[in-house]
Amino acid sequence: MKVMKFGGTSVADRAAIERLIALVRAERQAEAQREGGDARGPVVVVSALSGVTDRLLGVAALAREGDVEGARTSLQDLRQRHLTVSEVITDEALRQPVVDALNLEFDELERVVSALAVLQEVSPRWLDALAATGEVLSSQIVAAALSAHKLQGAWVDARKAVVTDGEHTAAAPLFQETTAALMTHADPPLAAGRIPVLGGFVGATAGGVTTTLGRGGSDFSAAIVGACLGADEIQIWTDVDGMLTADPRIVKAPQVVPHLSFAEASELAYFGAKVLHPATIQPAVARNIPVRILNSQRAQARGTLITAERPKSDRPLTAVASKKGVTVVDITSTRMLMAHGFLRRLFEVFERHKTPVDVVTTSEVSVSVTIDDARRLPAIIEGLSGFAGVEQQDQMAIICVVGDGLHDDPTLASQVLASVGDVPLRMVSQAASRRNITFVISEAELPTALCRLHDRFFMPVITS
Ligand code: ADP
Ligand code: ASP
Ligand code: MG
Repeated sequence: MKVMKFGGTSVADRAAIERLIALVRAERQAEAQREGGDARGPVVVVSALSGVTDRLLGVAALAREGDVEGARTSLQDLRQRHLTVSEVITDEALRQPVVDALNLEFDELERVVSALAVLQEVSPRWLDALAATGEVLSSQIVAAALSAHKLQGAWVDARKAVVTDGEHTAAAPLFQETTAALMTHADPPLAAGRIPVLGGFVGATAGGVTTTLGRGGSDFSAAIVGACLGADEIQIWTDVDGMLTADPRIVKAPQVVPHLSFAEASELAYFGAKVLHPATIQPAVARNIPVRILNSQRAQARGTLITAERPKSDRPLTAVASKKGVTVVDITSTRMLMAHGFLRRLFEVFERHKTPVDVVTTSEVSVSVTIDDARRLPAIIEGLSGFAGVEQQDQMAIICVVGDGLHDDPTLASQVLASVGDVPLRMVSQAASRRNITFVISEAELPTALCRLHDRFFMPVITS
């Protein structure tokens, strides 16, 4: 059985959902013919229609400002868009209950948003309840659309099937509880030959309070569901041909990486390759389930296969990931750096404020770290300033270059650094595995640095 996850652009409108239906039908036929296949599934996980999560969070922001009218107008647009897309459910008897559910949901949202606008306050718990609506609705539309196209969809409410802790907006799944819940809610339809459809990104605490897994979290949902149900492949259907050698929004004509190891994919996702949520690989590793990234608009493209090991490639570097909006924090102490216990104290401050540190470099008198999420930085600086001097630098970017060649050829790292030319390097770090090199530059220099690096190492070699 496979899990097929479709991102926002792959369920954006009627045409996209019709493509999804064709892909699910093809998979079902292939599974029936596959030797050793269990002829079940697939399980479908969907994102909200593209742009809907941003709009819902925008509604929350308007409510916080007390702008009831603005929030209502946005909700009306969203209601209309979902009603229009629901026309993909071509059987009226199947469409009507979905339309009723949509209207009920939007009526409720309007009431909630009006109340929040009076208070001018939106707690993380309400933020999750609002944001989750996108997936709750898209999954109902897709389940009914499959049925209308003779594929027997079965809507599974992710708020019942994915159990998480209570860390709103960044909840972590509880695997044992989720496995039990999926056995109750998704396994019976699967066993009956139906196609369970769940909203990604969404879960709920054991007490039933709605949570979300963090932005881009539908990939993670697919991997959680795949691991808990013992899938033999997790497919991430998106709007590009696979993991590319660099971010296509910055570099012209990056190429598809046909095969990645779990370790390489995790590294690239963590350092900004948005095509895969950084947590996706963990559940796949735990159960050794291959992950495939595929293009829902070009199903014939081979995509990227991600497995524990990969065949050796003749390219020294695999791909480059990059991340903007990073903050560098320099922590200086002439007295204490070499004293034992200093680093522990320093990192404890970040831990206390639940802020992960990405890149770390040290000198004799200072430690520099990068953080992605600077929301708690004022409190962190206060905590650190008790025993060290602190300076921060915003609008920085990380470039992470991944490839076995860095391990095999000790001169490659210096060639990578040289390739960015006169772009000033702020921090440089190479981890023990020596399969990646990470450096920090100013955000403004990112396009220049990335294009130079990509031109030097990834352009196809033209032989005459
Ligand atoms: P989905 O809605 O399907 O989850 P996302 O927008 O989350 O899609 O992820 C796909 C996007 O990730 C691509 O359209 C591309 O712009 C961006 N991206 C960034 N880095 C990479 C990369 N290295 N390879 C592929 N896509 C990337
Ligand atoms: N809809 C959610 C988001 O936009 C989750 C996802 O698409 O993966 O972040
Ligand atoms: Mg995504």
